[in-house]
Amino acid sequence: MLEDKHILITGASSGIGRATAIECANQGAFVYLAGRDKSALTATKQMIPNSSILEYDVTVESEVKAAFACIAKSDHTLDGVVNCAGQMLDAGIAMTRVEDFNQQLQINTVSTFLHCQLAARMMTRQRQGSIVNLCSAVGEQGSAGQSAYAASKAAVSGLTLSLSKELGNLGIRVNAVSPGFIDTPMTAEYRGEKKQNVLQHSALKRAGSAEEVASVITFLLSSKASYITGQIIGVDGGLRV
Ligand code: NAD
Repeated sequence: MLEDKHILITGASSGIGRATAIECANQGAFVYLAGRDKSALTATKQMIPNSSILEYDVTVESEVKAAFACIAKSDHTLDGVVNCAGQMLDAGIAMTRVEDFNQQLQINTVSTFLHCQLAARMMTRQRQGSIVNLCSAVGEQGSAGQSAYAASKAAVSGLTLSLSKELGNLGIRVNAVSPGFIDTPMTAEYRGEKKQNVLQHSALKRAGSAEEVASVITFLLSSKASYITGQIIGVDGGLRV
């Protein structure tokens, strides 16, 4: 599905990002593995020979720009970007400082905006490209004790929809996936009853796997999804049914 495509994936060192990198490579893509954790990225790279590591913090503008400059220097097009890097703050409003709220916005929202902006510049020259952002069922439905995270992800939904309208006539598609409860390091602290409380609200009554999200992202990156843009696709086991 992704033969000869070059795809940048942030947060490729674990969870959904790593699973997406592996699936994209399985489908023939060359993958830029972006993240902060060099040793975890190296472990991902060992599974994907057709890849290259870009070690940077997605919240540092100069580092993000340097990464895109590095990609631009290569002779390749940038066909797809997946904004997987993220962090989830579990804290009631009384315990959420403005600093914490800003940090959630920086990691989940501003970094996604910046990657979309820089990707759009390159993809505009190519007149083609596909961007996939990571929203969350929490951002669409709300979740007690996660207001900062929910707000940061709801903003990504608005960003995705707006960019799909702005960039569509340039041949750039912009979509998002909105996972429910997925077993990854991000949700590892949810166990036992706490986990079951979340899962009982889903139709399938189980957690999803990173691979189940990765396959949808990979489809959205591919030409098989060539008429799909401006969609926020729930991969949530029926959490909103
Ligand atoms: P994860 O913790 O395994 O992955 C997040 C990745 O982001 C990690 O590799 C981490 O190192 C990286 N990261 C965090 N801050 C960074 C920074 N400043 N610079 C560079 N990299 C940074 O969790 P995951 O579940 O794979 O999450 C992937 C995305 O999916 C996130 O955006 C998350 O909000 C979203 N999501 C996850 C779930 C879920 O249930 N797991 C549900 C909805 C949405």
